[in-house]
Amino acid sequence: MPELPEVEVTMRGVRPYLEQQRIKSVYFDDYRLREPFDPRLSELEGGFIDAVSRRGKFIVIHSDHGSVIVHLGMTGHFKVQDATAPAVKHDHFALTLESGKMVRLNDSRRFGLVHYVPPGQDPLCDEHLVNLGPEPLDDEFNGAYLLRRLQRIKKGEIKPALMNSRIVVGVGNIYASESLFTAAIHPQSQANALTLTQCTTLCRVIKATLQRSIAEGGTTIRDFAGADGKPGYFVQELQVYGKNGKPCPRCGTKLEKIVQGQRSTFFCPHCQKLYVKPLSAV
Ligand SMILES: [Zn+2]
Repeated sequence: MPELPEVEVTMRGVRPYLEQQRIKSVYFDDYRLREPFDPRLSELEGGFIDAVSRRGKFIVIHSDHGSVIVHLGMTGHFKVQDATAPAVKHDHFALTLESGKMVRLNDSRRFGLVHYVPPGQDPLCDEHLVNLGPEPLDDEFNGAYLLRRLQRIKKGEIKPALMNSRIVVGVGNIYASESLFTAAIHPQSQANALTLTQCTTLCRVIKATLQRSIAEGGTTIRDFAGADGKPGYFVQELQVYGKNGKPCPRCGTKLEKIVQGQRSTFFCPHCQKLYVKPLSAV
C-alpha cells in the first residue's frame, strides 16, 4: 500500500504535467473505486489546473472547474503518457491535457478514490480531509503536541495511535514500526504513558524517516511505481519491517512480529522497552 512518501513522490511526479495546464477531456469508466465516479467529473473539461498538492495520503488537483481528491488505495498509481497511448486493463480514470499528455490512474484492486469537489468549495474542507490531524513534516507536529494528544487516550497502545490520522496523517504501518524501533519504544507501550522526551524523539524520528524515504523515491512494496515508472529504493533501508526471525540490526536479538489492530508490527524485544504508566501517575 502506498504510504505518505510514495504519495508525496507520486504527487511531485505528476505535478509538472498537470499544473498550469488546461484539461482537454476527462475519462472515467463504469467501475466503482471506493465510491462510484461522480458524473460531475466531466465538468472538469476546459478547466485550468492551478495547483496540485498533497494532504495526508490524498492528492488534490485544484482547477477553476472544480477539484479532484485522489487516494491511491492499495494498488492505485498514476502514469503519465501521450494522449494517444491505448488504455490497458484497470486504467479507470484519466485527464487529457492540452499539452498532448495524459495522466492516467490505474488501480487493479479498486480501493482508491477519485472524488469531485465543485468550484467555489475548498477541497481541504471536504469530508475526506477536514478531520485529518497535522502533517508529520509540519512544525505543528512536535513533542508537546504529541504528548498532549496521547494523554487524551484513556486506553490504547502507541503504534495504533501513531496510525490514527486524527492524531497525525500519513504514518502508515511500515513507518510506525520503523519509527518506534529507531526511537526504542515498544509498540505495545501505553500511548498515554510516553514522556515528553519520548514524544519529542518519536516526532524527530518520524520526520527523519519520512524525509529520507521521500528523498529516496518511496518504498517499493507491491504495485507502487513512481509516476515516471521507476520504483523507489527505500526498501533496503527498512530495519525491522517484514524481518521477523532476522537479527536486530542494533543488538542481534531475533526480531518479533505481533498483530495490533489487524496490522503486523515488527520490533526488537530487547531494544524496545515497554512503557507502562506508573501507578502514582494514574
Ligand atoms: Zn535489538
